Amino acid sequence: MAIEKMAEQITKQPVLNIGMVGHIDHGKTTLLWKLTGKWTDTHSEELKRGITIKLGYADVVIRKCTKCGVYTREETCKCGGKSEAVRYISFVDAPGHEMLMATMLSGAAVIDAAILVIAANEPCPRPQTREHLVALEAKGIREIMIVQNKVDLATREQALKNYEDIKKFVKGTVAENAVIIPCSAQQGVNIDSILEYICKLKIPERDIENKPLFFIARSFDINKPGTNSAELSGGVLGGVLKQGSLQIGDEIEIKPGLSMKKHNTTEYRTIKTKILALYSGNNKLDKIIPSGSLAIQTSLDPVLTKADSLAGCVVGKAGELPEIKSRVKIKTQLFKEIIGIEEKKPVEPIKFNETILLSVNTAVTVGIAAKSTGNEIELSLKIPIVPIAKSKVGIARNLQGHWRLIGWGEIVI
Ligand code: GDP
Ligand code: ZN
Repeated sequence: MAIEKMAEQITKQPVLNIGMVGHIDHGKTTLLWKLTGKWTDTHSEELKRGITIKLGYADVVIRKCTKCGVYTREETCKCGGKSEAVRYISFVDAPGHEMLMATMLSGAAVIDAAILVIAANEPCPRPQTREHLVALEAKGIREIMIVQNKVDLATREQALKNYEDIKKFVKGTVAENAVIIPCSAQQGVNIDSILEYICKLKIPERDIENKPLFFIARSFDINKPGTNSAELSGGVLGGVLKQGSLQIGDEIEIKPGLSMKKHNTTEYRTIKTKILALYSGNNKLDKIIPSGSLAIQTSLDPVLTKADSLAGCVVGKAGELPEIKSRVKIKTQLFKEIIGIEEKKPVEPIKFNETILLSVNTAVTVGIAAKSTGNEIELSLKIPIVPIAKSKVGIARNLQGHWRLIGWGEIVI
């Protein structure tokens, strides 16, 4: 293939979706800014305003200098040499706040790999560092890199001690052999090594032949206020294609879809629409296959997609998605101990009538335990789910006002 053609191929669709995970304030958003040149930080603002926390999103084409070999995102390297595109990556920034585990789990549903950010100037592990690693492990994410951040705030001895603590912490976990890269996101130290390691992460095998399944992580209205109705662009869905392929012109359905209040109950109606355009970052594509974050522009009234209103829904070809369910049976696997807190506390079995939080695909729903036998529970859900065979669901319990991850489950279909 000609070089220009190869570069075009590389920059077409992101090949990996990487999750930034770790305890709050350890530097995920700052690092992501240094890696991509983009700020995703809506988290702290949203926290202050007490509204739902969204998953941040950013992407970058990683390049390598043809003269000195350094990894960068600039076309002209600091040495003056020209760089060439090596890998196109998208990221999701998961909030590290203890209350936002559910959002982190929605993020874990769409990522292929993760960067676990750990501050060098704090004891390791902090509660959400541990909770996030367990979540990655349970979701089957094996490609993990550790960034030991804020080395500028630690003495050499502290940094070495912290490194040993990290090693101890990951021993016996999926991250046991993960590389640990010291860095200062704020000072921009060692960012090039992180970019280099990102280029070495393995790309999972993609299932292109199966029926398409697209998980919505964000949805928006891209029109400027006051746009003439004849010129309105259709609603946009952002997320990840888990399997199959989709192309412009495809008739699609979105489930659970539109919620409608009817007397005392809420009903969900499948939304049907058509794909008008496909995007990865600013690239327009005719067809998409599983990869990093993508966006689907539909013929929907943008009112239906604005402000993430369809986040958590699943997209498939018209007529191909499973029926939604409000009552589900789940085979559970509870942890021995609650992991997101400092103290040691055993996980009690799920009780009859207990309210449980479930994270399914990119959705979060609450259910009441109706029946439980052995490790199987039956739940009656507030928001119905799209049951996908073998997919893992996160189970959280409310303890003193915080949702804590207590285990995992598999939907019995
Ligand atoms: P997040 O909650 O993990 O996304 O953390 P942020 O990226 O918001 O960073 C939290 C705070 O730590 C901010 O004030 C950052 O400026 C600061 N910070 C991030 N990385 C570094 C670093 O490498 N060194 C120093 N000194 N401060 C950092
Ligand atoms: Zn160079």
